[in-house]
Amino acid sequence: MPAGSFLPYGRQDIDADDVAAVVEALGADFLTTGPRVEAFEQAFAAAVDAAHAVACANGTAALHLSMLALGIGPGDRVAVPSVTFLATANCARFVGAEVLFTDVDPGTGLMTSGTLREALERSPGPLRAVLPVHLRGDVADLKGLAALAREAGAVLVEDAPHALGSAADFGDGAEAVGSGRWSSAATFSFHPVKTIATGEGGMVTTPDGDVAARLRRLRSHGMERLPGADPWLYEMREPGFNYRLPDILCALGQSQLRRLPDFAARRRALAEGYAAALAPLAPHVRLAATPAWSRPVLHLLTVLIDFEGLGRTRRRVVEALAAEGIGTQVHYIPVHAQPYYVGRYGPLDLPGAAAWYRRCLSLPLFPAMADTDVDRVSAALSRALGLA
Ligand SMILES: *Cc1c(COP(=O)(O)O)cnc(C)c1O
Repeated sequence: MPAGSFLPYGRQDIDADDVAAVVEALGADFLTTGPRVEAFEQAFAAAVDAAHAVACANGTAALHLSMLALGIGPGDRVAVPSVTFLATANCARFVGAEVLFTDVDPGTGLMTSGTLREALERSPGPLRAVLPVHLRGDVADLKGLAALAREAGAVLVEDAPHALGSAADFGDGAEAVGSGRWSSAATFSFHPVKTIATGEGGMVTTPDGDVAARLRRLRSHGMERLPGADPWLYEMREPGFNYRLPDILCALGQSQLRRLPDFAARRRALAEGYAAALAPLAPHVRLAATPAWSRPVLHLLTVLIDFEGLGRTRRRVVEALAAEGIGTQVHYIPVHAQPYYVGRYGPLDLPGAAAWYRRCLSLPLFPAMADTDVDRVSAALSRALGLA
């Protein structure tokens, strides 16, 4: 970015090829539900080693469709880490299920086998689904969580909008997030701050052909065309939604996906730059930790800051950075503490989530950043904390 320009914590990267792909789609026969939807889905499935990928309107729709397609409904219980975006928990409520909030590891922000086990012990009833979030792009302990989910008779669904391009190695080789090795479904978002952008957009990947077919039906009103029947005929066996992703946006998605290897390499290089530049600020400032199995493409560069020890409030630090043209964000306010959920489940004591929330701050990370931007942010943070 040019010196002096404002650095947001994240932003999309649209180049001439992306623009050309959209312009071409605008001149084609279908603006929605055309050939670019399937082309994007196939390219996406190939990129994350998934058997099936189903495009949809956004990441929240992807979560809602996953709950519906896996048959989760009223009275069911879904385990969700408290440190996530609202939508991860809300999707359980969309289908009438209850949320079982789990704590997170205070160093990674991730649901762990330990925090899931603790939540199961206080759960008022059986669990139907476990919904870990690969916060920042680091991969949750899928192997451990899958074993616990299986034991509990629950399905595993990954909320993976932060982890496009990330992989995990549990001892027998690296697997892409979204491949479905450990889970029934994984959801993605193409909101402008995410790793690839279509404005609004989402995807569900699944290893299960029946789940994929149900996702496709539910994405478009529950309509099903009957092979060999009269050409106008369709049937509806369950009501669905209009959660389609238009052809125009699928053209952009496919073009963005071609750039994923470059985006991933750039994000990795910038994260390494931050690790080096922020190392002198330890132990007051640390990067969020990466679990041993995780091979992240980071979506968020989150640091954990001992604001109390440094005698600084987060608000003052955020304002000092903003005054230097540096955007930051807090990911996330623990969802269990939102008034709606306190009203529904009462107050909950989740010490890992509280510790994470006290310290977390996400710094700018997006492919168009220059290496010098990393130094500029790190120097400004150091000054704002009185460590320079
Ligand atoms: C972005 C995001 C969502 C929601 O995606 P939208 O496309 O904005 O609806 C859900 N969960 C997580 C973890 C996200 O980061």
